[in-house]
Amino acid sequence: MSSADSTLASQPTKNDVESRVRSLIELLENSLTQNPETFSISTALPVQSYEPQLLDQAKQAVYRKVIERAWEDGQFTRDEQQTARWIAERLELPEGEFAAIELDLAKKQFAAALGRAMSDGSLDADDERRLQKISDTIGMPMATFAGVFFHAEGEKFLRSMFLEAVADNHLLTEEWGALLSTANKLGISHHEFLQAIRHQTREFVEHVIVDAKADGEISAHEEETMVWLLQQLEMPSDFCQYAVSEMARVQSRVQSTQALEVVTIPPQLRTRIWRKYNGRCAACSAGDYLEMVRIIPKSMGGGDDESNIQLLCRRCLGQTHA
Ligand SMILES: [Zn+2]
Repeated sequence: MSSADSTLASQPTKNDVESRVRSLIELLENSLTQNPETFSISTALPVQSYEPQLLDQAKQAVYRKVIERAWEDGQFTRDEQQTARWIAERLELPEGEFAAIELDLAKKQFAAALGRAMSDGSLDADDERRLQKISDTIGMPMATFAGVFFHAEGEKFLRSMFLEAVADNHLLTEEWGALLSTANKLGISHHEFLQAIRHQTREFVEHVIVDAKADGEISAHEEETMVWLLQQLEMPSDFCQYAVSEMARVQSRVQSTQALEVVTIPPQLRTRIWRKYNGRCAACSAGDYLEMVRIIPKSMGGGDDESNIQLLCRRCLGQTHA
């Protein structure tokens, strides 16, 4: 080692450390490519050319590249895993270190695969296989892997799946079943799933009620669906009571004469109004006790155009229509 080298070694700059790690990486990789059979740390490196800490960094970087290359085709096969383990051994990498590198890269692959699944809004059999294979490489069931490392992403995915499922203002039993099974595959418990979508479920149920009220009638089937929904979604009991009493009000209003002012707004218009006000009271932004009302009543010539209809909560409605 020259005197210049030893000066640098006593006060290494960041660049200097990086360049020395880089040259160690090069030495290791060259030796590994040229003599894979006889590769070892001691044959690859001249005795005095490294410091232990830098060598550790270099070994990890070499191993990381090996795993990255293996993943390039989207899988880390059994054979590749065996080869990788053999290289880890030759590099004298402790298990904690190579396992951490493998986990880190598996997480990147999993995130990408989950992102692709999310972009088309469903977790189909192919997505599932892909995710399963990735978690297999680090010996973890897919649900555990997803639940431990991708809990937030999984919940976000389920929320958007739920919104997609209820976009038509109905939640079919099959759709609900698919959501539950996806939650399960993503390592999210039933309870956690319901918690994750609680705002969306509340808004959805409110929408169903408002729609029934604006429609002016409620069929036995709709009532059944509502009860099923309230049970499945495990809504709080005060909200269930509210929903049930609102449905009952619709029933009783059908016979009442006042009802004519509020009821029967055409379905497409109802959807537009709901979106326009984002499921909130136009006056106070409340998300419950909502009604769709004509600003100018029908009896006074008010029409069915969008500009004449508002979403108001009962409290604000009492003030404007008192
Ligand atoms: Zn209001």
